[in-house]
This record gives sequence, C-alpha cells and structure tokens, in this order.
Amino acid sequence: MGVDSFVDWLRDAAGVLHENAAYLTELDSAIGDADHGANMDRGFQAIVAVLDESSFDSADELLKKAGMTLVSKVGGASGPLYGTFFLRFGTALAGADLSAEAIGRALHAGVEGVLARGKAELGDKTMYDAWAPALEAYDAAVAGGSEVGPALTAAAEAAAKGRDATVPLVARKGRASYLGERSAGHQDPGATSTTLILESAARTLT
Ligand code: ADP
Ligand code: MG
Repeated sequence: MGVDSFVDWLRDAAGVLHENAAYLTELDSAIGDADHGANMDRGFQAIVAVLDESSFDSADELLKKAGMTLVSKVGGASGPLYGTFFLRFGTALAGADLSAEAIGRALHAGVEGVLARGKAELGDKTMYDAWAPALEAYDAAVAGGSEVGPALTAAAEAAAKGRDATVPLVARKGRASYLGERSAGHQDPGATSTTLILESAARTLT
C-alpha cells in the first residue's frame, strides 16, 4: 500500500458521498439544516479537483492537503471536523510505514482531532458515535493479527452499528441539539457519512 491507495480512497469516498448526497441531506433535514449531503459533496469534489491537478509523493502530504481542502471549502460543523480528521491522520502518517499498526495510530490521532475540535462524548448523537466503535473494532482486529483491509472492514461494520444506534439518542452537540428530545428517532447524518467513508476505506486501502 502506498500513496496511490489513499488517492483511490479519496476518489472512491467522493463518489460515494456524491451518490449519497440527497440521502445525507434528507437525514440532516430531519434534525439539522438540510445541508450535510451538499457539504460533504462540495468538500470531496474539491478534493477530487486537487487530485486532478496535483500529484503527491507521500500519503501524509496528500491527506494533509485533503484536510485543508475540507476546512477551507466546507462551512458548517462537518468541514472543520472532517478537515481536522484528515489533517491529523495525515500528520500522524508522516515518516510512518503504512502498517496496520501505523494506520491504527493515525486513525486514533484523527479522531482525537475530531474530539479536540467538537468536544463530543459517546452518545451525544454525532459522528463520534460511529468513529468510537470503529476504532475499537480496528484495534481488536489488528491485535488479532489482521491486515489493514480486514481491520478496516471490521471498523466499517462497527461504525454502521454505531450509526444505527444513534437513532434513539437525544442530540447533545451540534445543530440537532437545538431540538432536544425531538432529535430522538432520527439517524445522525454525520455518523452516516463517517460510515460511508470507512466503508470506502475498507474497499480501497488494502
Ligand atoms: P451543520 O450542523 O453545521 O449544518 P453538517 O450538517 O454538515 O453541519 O454536519 C452535521 C453533523 O456534524 C452532525 O450530524 C454530527 O454528526 C456532526 N457534528 C456536529 N457537531 C459535532 C460535534 N461537536 N462533534 C462531533 N460531530 C459533530
Ligand atoms: Mg447541517
């Protein structure tokens, strides 16, 4: 695995987020302001434009650029949160081998960035409710001897369960928290996009 695998990931994720833009926006229309699909699509299309224009010698440069692109092109909560994820993920990969362990450490660094920025806790009905079980499943798979691909598959499956588990929760962070109890009964848009991004990683980072 090298920089090309990460290019494949970003392109694949952009395609999936584009295909799911209407769905993500529909989820956000129930408990937010109906822009999550448009935000993710705009951000990842901007990443694709960068990929079409430039080439990258290393995964860390590529991922940092992707993060900066999301921060600069996407308003709202999700741009800075995903931007910080990719910035920290990339920074943690600088000089690292791309082993399953190194990628695990980088995933943790990325998610710590999401937490530093958004201050979410488990059960707040945010993207962190997908990231947290994903990290746990990834670590367990690697501890059991899995390579990157299968560990990411386990992470994506755990993220999907975390996403589904956001449905009954009352939101305590972000716009959905303005609704209080009325946010219960709806799936969190950000936990949904996180799951799509991890499913894409499992397909491409092998
Ligand atoms: P906005 O809420 O500004 O319109 P988006 O609609 O693009 O931004 O993204 C909404 C998603 O962002 C939510 O579904 C949630 O998963 C995530 N989110 C919002 N606030 C936080 C936070 N403080 N920490 C983690 N994730 C958050
Ligand atoms: Mg929104």
